[in-house]
Amino acid sequence: MALIVQKYGGSSVADAESIKRVAKRIVDTRRAGHDVVVAVSAMGDTTDELLDLAHQVAPISAPRELDMLLSSGERISMALLAMAIHSMGFEARSFTGSQAGMITDATHGAARIVDVTPVRLREALDEGAIVIVAGFQGFNRDTRDITTLGRGGSDTTAVALAAALDADVCEIYSDVDGIFTADPRVVPKARKLDVITSEEMLELAANGAKVLYIRAVEYARRHGVMINARSTFSSGQGTFVLGAGMTVPAAMAATLEESAMEEPIVAGVATDLGQAKITVIGVPDVPGKAAEIFTVVAKSGANVDMIVQNVSAAATGRTDISFTLPKSDAATALRALAAEQAHIGFESLVHDDQIGKLSVVGAGMRTHSGVSATLFEALATSGVNIEMISTSEIRISVVVRGDDLAQAARVVHTAYGLDGEVDAIVHAGTGR
Ligand code: ASP
Ligand code: MG
Repeated sequence: MALIVQKYGGSSVADAESIKRVAKRIVDTRRAGHDVVVAVSAMGDTTDELLDLAHQVAPISAPRELDMLLSSGERISMALLAMAIHSMGFEARSFTGSQAGMITDATHGAARIVDVTPVRLREALDEGAIVIVAGFQGFNRDTRDITTLGRGGSDTTAVALAAALDADVCEIYSDVDGIFTADPRVVPKARKLDVITSEEMLELAANGAKVLYIRAVEYARRHGVMINARSTFSSGQGTFVLGAGMTVPAAMAATLEESAMEEPIVAGVATDLGQAKITVIGVPDVPGKAAEIFTVVAKSGANVDMIVQNVSAAATGRTDISFTLPKSDAATALRALAAEQAHIGFESLVHDDQIGKLSVVGAGMRTHSGVSATLFEALATSGVNIEMISTSEIRISVVVRGDDLAQAARVVHTAYGLDGEVDAIVHAGTGR
């Protein structure tokens, strides 16, 4: 008998039929003798529709009111899910984020969880009820207002509940089968992973993989929560995301493929078309210029990823500095830099939004040599030009032309021996 937290994404509760299917799954878990706490997302595209509605009413809405509006989506699904469970003869109680004790900071639209006090959830569990919690929302003690955690925040709700209740596992249900070695829509031979380490998962999520939200994975890693990413629409075991010192529960390990037990050097390949590149041309090569440039960029709110500085030309004593950042941050960063051009003393700015970033991630890189050579050879053989390179302990990333990204991902996937025998079944799934 375990305590299991389950999170169901919007696509899993899109309509009445889906809600009943999810209710059945929850009841089955309860019947197996487990305590169940569920975090649920808003039905289907509800959150987008509510945002749309807000924009129609007012071009700019007060963040407080936006959170009041958006948090209602999850309240609809939580109540309907509790009703569906009731009608199957089981006791279920739904709770809003604030009732569940999700205490956050006061940042509307991107609140951070600062404390979880699940007193009412414990009471309900002790009374034998199945607990349903509205995902994506919390409460700030100072302002006494409702907050939301940012898009995709229900994953974080689920993980935070699992941590606070010391659950055995946090199952995150969506419309895809688990974590894949690459996005199956880009790399058809991508394979579902049975297990992945949380540090690898973090790197994949930070570099374009969209199945799990990075904040949820971070929270799980920090608090020692085991995540199991799986599909609502199949009975597969999905993927276990393991933190330090965690092993797959014995009952579950038996059903995993043997291949999962050998440690691969590379866990997966992530692709990201969401980045742009800015090159600052003709920067005086004297101490302090990089500091000036990146202070301006940071103040514009942009999140810089890769940075490359060229060797300066002896004749001019000037150099070029390129960096990448999210496409959505580029315009503001360019404007901020242009405003400081005379002060910093660079010659011009070039903006390039046709880039793609490919990252290879694997904990085995620490102990194996030749991992980067394999990457560069694969790209060379297929004629893909590398524009920038960056590495971390367990990741190598390259920037290539955006048009080359899909092909690059496929050859690299093959080069590391990650290809599955059959093409992955690509659902219309979004991973939500
Ligand atoms: N409903 C929210 C969203 O669509 C939260 C979530 O689905 O996790 O972003
Ligand atoms: Mg959603």
